[in-house]
Amino acid sequence: MKKLGFGLMRLPLKNADDPKSIDYEQVCVMADAFLAAGFTYFDTAYMYHDGLSETAVKKVLVDRHPRTSFTVTSKLPTMHLHAADDQKRIFEEQLARTGAEYFDVYLLHNLGTENYAKAKRFKSFEYIASLKEQGVIKEIGFSFHDRAAVLDEILTEHPEVDYVQLQINYLDWEDAGIQSRLCHETAVRHGKKVIVMEPVKGGSLVRLPRSILDTFSALHADWSPASWAIRFAAGLDNVAVVLSGMSDLAQVMDNTGYMKEFRPLGTPEIGVLREAARVLSEGTSIPCTACRYCTEVCPKQIAIPEYFSLYNNEQLANKGGYSLQKQYYTTYAQHFGKASDCIGCKQCESACPQHLPVRRYLKEIAARYET
Ligand code: SF4
Ligand code: SF4
Repeated sequence: MKKLGFGLMRLPLKNADDPKSIDYEQVCVMADAFLAAGFTYFDTAYMYHDGLSETAVKKVLVDRHPRTSFTVTSKLPTMHLHAADDQKRIFEEQLARTGAEYFDVYLLHNLGTENYAKAKRFKSFEYIASLKEQGVIKEIGFSFHDRAAVLDEILTEHPEVDYVQLQINYLDWEDAGIQSRLCHETAVRHGKKVIVMEPVKGGSLVRLPRSILDTFSALHADWSPASWAIRFAAGLDNVAVVLSGMSDLAQVMDNTGYMKEFRPLGTPEIGVLREAARVLSEGTSIPCTACRYCTEVCPKQIAIPEYFSLYNNEQLANKGGYSLQKQYYTTYAQHFGKASDCIGCKQCESACPQHLPVRRYLKEIAARYET
């Protein structure tokens, strides 16, 4: 399988304010170009485009192409489950919406500490394994947004999964909050195939500062910023496919062009990306180095560097118009002190080698994520 997947979550719209107003004619042209270039992997989910992304699978693929000429991945929305019976109802609805008869890959959507507890309660892993046995799902897995330690726990308890879908990009690679590298290493250690989501960080790695674009052009004048990010993710061990949420034909042509004969990045390119990540991180609002001296002294066990990292990510993501940081914050706050738990003792500020006004930042973070 070629390593580029078509993410059906940012499809072209007729009305920019209405996620249901999918421009099906344009999507047909894009999907046909994708298939003609030899790519086959399409990714949808129950909630994308308010439910109509799965309908797009039927209109654009199932009704127009042989079922064996493409693969469809969909996901069980763990965040919408209220009872074990919801799983069967939703799965049948998904099969009806897509008309796909079976899913090539089916994932538990958005696992982290909270949703994993729910998946255990409703026996979601057992449920998708039973669908695999029946042949209506070919391979199973889950998408994931949490710390590597939680991923390790899930994979240890569920060695039966085939895939893990992770947020991986060159900016989050060493990020203390997202833990891209640590999560990737965990998946590899467990021998899982990896699906990469957010390789361009919701568009943040497309709209780059001029200084970074210049270093890219100096090595490869004809590579787009998105192509640098997607090539980085596709070259990692165990990566089976990198998802790109394509919104127009130009993106399809660009992505399929360089991913047709994909070759992993070499040392000079990786060096350029590492430097780009450094420059982008420097441009963020809280210059925390994640040294963790503060957490060693904080009496309230507040996840200070993680919260700072999420806050910084949001500044970047806002430029791309997309953010999952609040969701990450809620997960962290279940295990560590909340930003608002700070009692102002100032021990963190005395310990911080960067002399950061931690208490002030925590107030801003509490105001942003706890309201
Ligand atoms: S000032 Fe707040 S964040 Fe800093 S050590 Fe004290 S309780 Fe923790
Ligand atoms: S001590 Fe300062 S630089 Fe180090 S992790 Fe804490 S806030 Fe960040």
